[in-house]
Amino acid sequence: MLNSGEISNFIQKKDFAVNIIETAKVIILVLDSKGFILYFNPFMEELTGYSLEDMKGKEWFSAFLPEKDREDIKKIFLIAIEDMDVRGNVNTIITSKGQELYIEWYSKTLKDKNGRSAGLLNIGYDVTERKKLEENMSFLEYSMENSSMATFWIDSSGKLFNVNMRACKTLGYSQEELKNMNVSDLDPFFPEHLWPEHWRELKEKGVLIFNSFHRRKDGSLFPVEITANYLKFRDEEYNFAFAFDITERKKIESELEKYREKLEEMVKERTEELERKSLELNERVKEISCLYSATRLLSEPDKDLGEILKETVEILPSGFQYPSLTYIRIVIDNMEFKSSNFRDASLKMNFPVTVFGKEAGFFEIYCDEPFLKEEYTLIDNLSGKTGRIIEKRKTEYALWASELKHRILLEHIPQKIFHKDRDLNYIYCNDNYAADLKIKPEEIVGKNDYDFYPSDLAEKYRFDDRKIMEEGKTVELEEKYVKNGQDFYVNTVKTPTRDKNGEITGLFGIFWDITEKKEAEENLKKTMEELTRSNYDLEQFAYVASHDLQEPLRKISSFTELLDRKYKDRLDEKAQKYMFYIVDGAKRMQSLINDLLMFSRAGRGDMGFEKINMKEILDDILTDLQPLIKKENARIVVEHLPFLTGNTLQLHQVMQNLIVNAIKFHSKNPPLIQVFSKENEQEWVISVRDNGIGIENQYLERIFGVFQRLHTKEKYEGSGIGLSICKKIVERHGGHMMVDSIYGEGSTFSFTIPKR
Ligand code: ADP
Repeated sequence: MLNSGEISNFIQKKDFAVNIIETAKVIILVLDSKGFILYFNPFMEELTGYSLEDMKGKEWFSAFLPEKDREDIKKIFLIAIEDMDVRGNVNTIITSKGQELYIEWYSKTLKDKNGRSAGLLNIGYDVTERKKLEENMSFLEYSMENSSMATFWIDSSGKLFNVNMRACKTLGYSQEELKNMNVSDLDPFFPEHLWPEHWRELKEKGVLIFNSFHRRKDGSLFPVEITANYLKFRDEEYNFAFAFDITERKKIESELEKYREKLEEMVKERTEELERKSLELNERVKEISCLYSATRLLSEPDKDLGEILKETVEILPSGFQYPSLTYIRIVIDNMEFKSSNFRDASLKMNFPVTVFGKEAGFFEIYCDEPFLKEEYTLIDNLSGKTGRIIEKRKTEYALWASELKHRILLEHIPQKIFHKDRDLNYIYCNDNYAADLKIKPEEIVGKNDYDFYPSDLAEKYRFDDRKIMEEGKTVELEEKYVKNGQDFYVNTVKTPTRDKNGEITGLFGIFWDITEKKEAEENLKKTMEELTRSNYDLEQFAYVASHDLQEPLRKISSFTELLDRKYKDRLDEKAQKYMFYIVDGAKRMQSLINDLLMFSRAGRGDMGFEKINMKEILDDILTDLQPLIKKENARIVVEHLPFLTGNTLQLHQVMQNLIVNAIKFHSKNPPLIQVFSKENEQEWVISVRDNGIGIENQYLERIFGVFQRLHTKEKYEGSGIGLSICKKIVERHGGHMMVDSIYGEGSTFSFTIPKR
């Protein structure tokens, strides 16, 4: 049996064979019966990059074949080893660099001496180049056949000698039919007589690309783009041409064309529209910038309205289509403003300016060209705005003025003013208030009474403030106040402050020092008390004096009377005259003292009050006065008289005094006297009216004084105490005396008695 070592020997011994094997440009590969590598020649090493030394003993299939082929090749190997020559089988092997090589194999079984298969001798040709070419060719052919381009092989006479499937499909002919046809049969633009010219051009340029038409078998034409290629192969000339159906493209092109036209149309329209718009826009920009500058001008707070309108009339024409032909006139609050170019024109617009609902003036626009709608709107807008701005200015001015007025008032009035919030922290105080606390007004904000006053006083203020806010009522009170550690009295008015919903937000207070007033009141009270006391003392004195004087006076007058009676004859004429004066003086003195006593009695003692029928009192008086009435021929008319509460005796005296005076001070005419009464809500007024001599105005007050008379005792009797007694009595009843008189015509004496 020949083993692998023996085979090697066999190979090595045959020098000739060895030479061939080692130099041959074919692969020589020996595998054992299991497919393990026994040998390969240097060409194989060269081809694959593997050395025999490394690969010897390795399994052929896994060492060199791609995995996908291994099983198939193994099968072929098993057939070959069974003494079946295998020829021309091609498979790929993989080189050390991973490259695939196509090898065409010729295999022969090697037998041992017993004729059994011991291995396989393989001769391999590298057919990679060929294989690749083949593959390329078939790919090319396939591509050609199935290309989306109709492909034509045309000879120099214009005959189609080959076409692809696409050409058949698009034209509707079979391959056979087409192969017998000419270009002129397909393309109406290439009749046979034009062909030579076309050929020459093609030959010259090598490639021609142009649009034409092809006719289908059914006679219909369709547009094509032809790419003609001039080829020269083995001395024969060819036109290798592609035809591309451009029906779709044409369609798209024509659509595109339509679109383009439409687009152009639109662009044109848009451009026109834009031009129009930009013109309009220009107008608008003019108007808006005019409106803007005019409004800005109008809104300048520090500028005088006159100044503003003067500038406005100059600005306005610029907002119009024809600024130089537009003239403006503004009349407001009797002020007139005209643009400097002003003149009368054929057209006129008038826009009233309304301020607080009343027409305060107008804007007038004059122009020779018709106005645009926008121009109308512009001025309409502006005149409206002007009205509102004037309103705003007036309101602001009024507000400012009233604010200023209030501020000045608050800051400068001598009263102290403060404002507290709900939590009784100060929000505001005026200078005067702050001055008392020796701080600045702004320093008081946020503080409260406890920061400034003794705690008991602060406590009281707080209590009062809370009460006022709870009850929501304004309160006026006199209270204590401390300044520089000294007590003062102040009169305070506190009032709750409210928001616009009526909710109480805090408290506003104003107070002023009444310490002096209080002191003055105290003084007055004291003086009054003193006065009353001294008055009382005086009355007491008058009473005592008049009472005690009466006794010695009575003695004087009785003894002088006695002297006069008994010793008259012994006295000479002169002495008798002196005597008369003494007696008369004593009498007068007596009556004066009597009257004085009466006067002082009127203010003394307990006054019992009772219900009195004044009518009855008057009746009694008239009865008593009958002789006097008769003597003076007086007429007395008594109207309704009321029931009163008072002292009967005293009121009797008052009424009697008045009636006696009314009779006594009569004029040349006999006295006519009216007694009447009037009722007021709280008192009765009783009056006695006469037609007597009357009293000069200047004496009206005087007559109520003690011993005040306007006449000599010779003309009218009396001591001048009657009216003072009346006055005293009436005042003790809580009423008062009045007199009304016209000198020479008569007087009316009245007194009031309160209702009880
Ligand atoms: P007498 O009557 O005692 O003089 P009165 O006090 O009664 O004192 O009056 C004071 C003065 O007032 C009178 O002197 C008189 O001048 C004036 N008088 C009072 N009553 C009248 C009267 N009815 N008409 C004019 N004068 C009067």
